[in-house]
Amino acid sequence: MPGSADILVAIVDDDRAVLDLETYFALGSPTASGSRFTGGRFERLGGGGGHAQTKDRFVADDLIAVTLLSVQVPPPIAIQILEGDLGRDLSAQLRLISTDIAIGAEGADRLLDNGGPANKAWGLLKACDGVGWVTAGKLLARKRPKLIPVYDHVVQCVRRSPDSFWLWLHRHLADEETGLRAALHRLRRRANVPADISDLRILDVAVWMRHRNDHVPWGVRRRRARIAAARCSRRVSQASTGQESPGNRSKPRFRSRSEARSSPLKILTEGTSPGCRIAEPVAA
Ligand SMILES: [Zn+2]
Repeated sequence: MPGSADILVAIVDDDRAVLDLETYFALGSPTASGSRFTGGRFERLGGGGGHAQTKDRFVADDLIAVTLLSVQVPPPIAIQILEGDLGRDLSAQLRLISTDIAIGAEGADRLLDNGGPANKAWGLLKACDGVGWVTAGKLLARKRPKLIPVYDHVVQCVRRSPDSFWLWLHRHLADEETGLRAALHRLRRRANVPADISDLRILDVAVWMRHRNDHVPWGVRRRRARIAAARCSRRVSQASTGQESPGNRSKPRFRSRSEARSSPLKILTEGTSPGCRIAEPVAA
């Protein structure tokens, strides 16, 4: 199966995941709003996006809920979702998706695949000005929390697979041999996570909490790489023209431009280095 889920299993099985879930969801706190992570209320605000009365249409609570995950729907699009054709088109797709079906279950792939209702709804949202793939996914995750993952750049960074994330995750959760589903059940028991929080959300939170402080956004990585490459180029130039100043004698030298091009700095500029270290869990 392309792209191993081993790192996800290791993160979920690590002791730190228990503490991370307790912190994120304020488990054990007498007030659910006691968490410093607003995302801990994402799936529960206003009774949840899959509430019986509103499960097939977006309501204001859903648009507020995604702000708890640090994204915002642009106001003109919000009106279209709540009162316009976009909202009606999204409802038509939501009506084709049961709130009970979970990613990894039989038949879920038909909903998630190209041409499936979840994919169509995502495409409708993604086509809107100011709504990126992260926001589109979070809106759908609010309506179908068992089926659609909360997926952002931090989780994407950990996964390290170019495949479609929804289908990739479906396959790994459906295949018992990966151990991912069993690991999520173990973590649920260990952290005593309430039943109304889905396995999928447990995975989202465990992975996000693990990497959120270590993650370096791609734009920052690119800027750093440019700066590093510029410094490298200056050093090559100074070395080849004999204009090296006393102050940089201790810095690395390259005998030629070709040597500089094959240096780690060059590799970084080409984006082949992860540039963003993932704190690998210690194997149990
Ligand atoms: Zn990262």
